[in-house]
Amino acid sequence: MKLSDIKKSVRNIPDFPKPGIQFKDITTAVKNPAVFHEMLAMLATNFQNRPIDYVVGIESRGFIFGAALAYALHCGFIPVRKPGKLPAKVVSQEYELEYGTDKLEIHSDAIEAGKHILIVDDLLATGGTCEAAAQLLKRLNGVVEGFAFAIELNGLNGRQKLEKYAPVYTLLRYDEA
Ligand code: AMP
Repeated sequence: MKLSDIKKSVRNIPDFPKPGIQFKDITTAVKNPAVFHEMLAMLATNFQNRPIDYVVGIESRGFIFGAALAYALHCGFIPVRKPGKLPAKVVSQEYELEYGTDKLEIHSDAIEAGKHILIVDDLLATGGTCEAAAQLLKRLNGVVEGFAFAIELNGLNGRQKLEKYAPVYTLLRYDEA
């Protein structure tokens, strides 16, 4: 299967959740068994020889790719969640949104020092979300080994922000923001 075929299965929803945003809806891609399988196979092939102990998935669409990728790489899966969702003691990291701030949390005992981690989300836009995840993992003395995304929106400089921490791998790239 070609990347162009995978790309055709991602649905674009204009002006969601607010005017001006071209929302990339991956639900139409992951419901297609051949497309979902191929996306995971490509992601897993790219990371199979890297020393990864854990895949960290970002709530919520990062769980879809992150958990499946952890299974394929024979790694453990660790969730990074929105505030108030994790039951045990957490560490939190605030990050900037276009208007205001948001917060992500991880269990404070989730990572043993020195473990190698792959951070996964569905889409890379400005990189703020995954930079916050990388900061959380560094605070727990984890080693960020890489970032993986199904989709990258070019032109928002997300890649630049994240490459300060580790290499970035994306399957599909879109020029419009
Ligand atoms: P950012 O922190 O700017 O890189 O934004 C990435 C997060 O916001 C990811 O969790 C995405 O699921 C979501 N997101 C941002 N822009 C879009 C978009 N155009 N379509 C779908 N999801 C998006």
